[in-house]
Amino acid sequence: MSNQIAAMLAQASRVSVFSHVLPDGDALGSSLGLMHLLGAQGKQVRVFSAGPIPEEYLFLPGMDRVSDVLPGAGEQDLAVMLDCHQPERTGPVGGAFLAKLPQVAIIDHHQGEVDFGQAAWVDPSFAATSEMVTLLAQAEGWPLTPQAATCLFVGVQTDTGSFRYANTTPRVLRVAADLAEAGADVWAISQEVYATRPKRLRLLGRIMDNLELSDQGRLALSQITLADLEKVGAGPADLEQAVETLRLIPGVEVSALLRQNPKGAIKVSMRSRGKVDVSQVAIALGGGGHKSAAGVTLEGNLEGVRRDIATRLRQGLEALA
Ligand code: 5GP
Ligand code: MN
Repeated sequence: MSNQIAAMLAQASRVSVFSHVLPDGDALGSSLGLMHLLGAQGKQVRVFSAGPIPEEYLFLPGMDRVSDVLPGAGEQDLAVMLDCHQPERTGPVGGAFLAKLPQVAIIDHHQGEVDFGQAAWVDPSFAATSEMVTLLAQAEGWPLTPQAATCLFVGVQTDTGSFRYANTTPRVLRVAADLAEAGADVWAISQEVYATRPKRLRLLGRIMDNLELSDQGRLALSQITLADLEKVGAGPADLEQAVETLRLIPGVEVSALLRQNPKGAIKVSMRSRGKVDVSQVAIALGGGGHKSAAGVTLEGNLEGVRRDIATRLRQGLEALA
C-alpha cells in the first residue's frame, strides 16, 4: 500500500495534509514531517489542523505553516490524511471537505475498518504514523532533512511514551536512531516536549483528587470538569500526557479519564496495561484508537457517561478471569 501512496505523491505537485482534532505529537509530527519531505522535492504543501495545538509542539519547525483554515477546493492534486482514517476525525470542517475530494490517501496506525480514500496504508503494527512516514521516505530515497527528522522524531517519541510503551519495537527504535542521525537533536527536543508546566501538574493534582479505584484496584477512573480546567488556567490540550499516569498506578489494568469539553460533550480517554483491548470499547461507542489507548467523545452528563464506561471496562476485566 505504501507503493501506491508513493506513486500518488510522486504525481501530485500540490498536496494538502490533514490529521485528527486535538492533535498529538504524532499527528503534528507526521504532518509537518511530510510537509518538509515533500517541500524539499519542490512540492507545494498545505497543512490543516483543527487544533487546539498543545503548547509543547509550538517549537516544531514549520508550525507557522499549520492552519485551521481549509485550502480551496481546487487547490490540491492530492489530500493526505495522517494519524486517522475517518474523515470526521479531522473535525467537522475538514471531514465535510475531505468527503468531497476525488483524491485522498491515508497513512495511519489506528485499529478499525478503513472505508475511505483512494489509497490507504493503515497498519496498527506501527507505533506511530511518523514511523510509517519515515519508512516511506527511506523506501523512496527522499532525503531526510534535519527539520523533517525533528518533526518525525517527536511523533515516534510521543506515541511510544518516550520508548516505554508496549509498541516500542526494534523497528521503531531503529527509525528513531535514523532520525537522530539525520539531525533530530534528542535533548533539545525533549526539553520542549517534556518541559515542566506548573498548570499541568496542578491539573494532575485535580485528577488524583478525583481518582476512584475499584475492582480490587484494577480499574482507575477520574474526571476533569470545565471548572477544574478553569481553576488551574488550563485547556483541553493540557491533558494529553496526564492520561498516561492513571494506568501506571500499580495494580491498575484499565483506566479512563473523562473530561468535559467546552461544548458540554464528554471526551473519554481510555488506557490499558495490555490485557484489555480498550479500542473495542471505543469502537463500540463510535470512537477508536489502539488496543492500549483509545478514546471517544460522547453526549451526556458526566455521571451517566462515567457509569457506562465503568460498566464496559468492568466487562473487559471480567472477560480476563
Ligand atoms: P487520547 O485518549 O489520547 O485522546 O486518544 C487515545 C487514542 O485513541 C489515540 O490514538 C486517538 O487517536 C484515539 N482516539 C481518541 N479519541 C477518539 C475518537 O473520538 N475517535 C477515534 N476514532 N479515535 C479516537
Ligand atoms: Mn499516532
